[in-house]
Amino acid sequence: MPKLQGQCYCGAVRFQIPTPLNLVGNCHCMSCQRAHGAPFATNATLRTEQLEILSGEQFIKTVKYIYRDNHERAPADSGRHFCSECGSRLFNNWPDAPLVSVWLSNIEDLPEITPMNVNVATKRPWVFLADDAEQYETFPFDLPARLKSIIDDVG
Ligand SMILES: [Zn+2]
Ligand SMILES: [Zn+2]
Repeated sequence: MPKLQGQCYCGAVRFQIPTPLNLVGNCHCMSCQRAHGAPFATNATLRTEQLEILSGEQFIKTVKYIYRDNHERAPADSGRHFCSECGSRLFNNWPDAPLVSVWLSNIEDLPEITPMNVNVATKRPWVFLADDAEQYETFPFDLPARLKSIIDDVG
């Protein structure tokens, strides 16, 4: 399967990820909206070692997760990673799992995708989803199983 290549806004950080993409989703939560300055953010989840940083690793900085809406404490070893030269969001790493969610807007030759929509409870009313779009108020009930299948996939 071909790999997809992406870069940040300034080009200092370049990376590639394998296909097919897993767990492709638009996150409409307020944390993603604020962090990205956008109504939602689109990502795919993969095992941490599948994300290959091709250049600019020294520019990648991390903001710890900030759960303002539910006052949860951010796990110390997880957060949102961005390019410190230009501020582009690059990926999140999951707490307590060897997984990253990569923001797909940084990939130019992105194949056709059909994202599910999560956290639509806080979706902006002027963002319209197709009638048949997969959507969840928070997250799909089987998210833990879907994450486990990514971790266990040896392919
Ligand atoms: Zn950059
Ligand atoms: Zn989110």
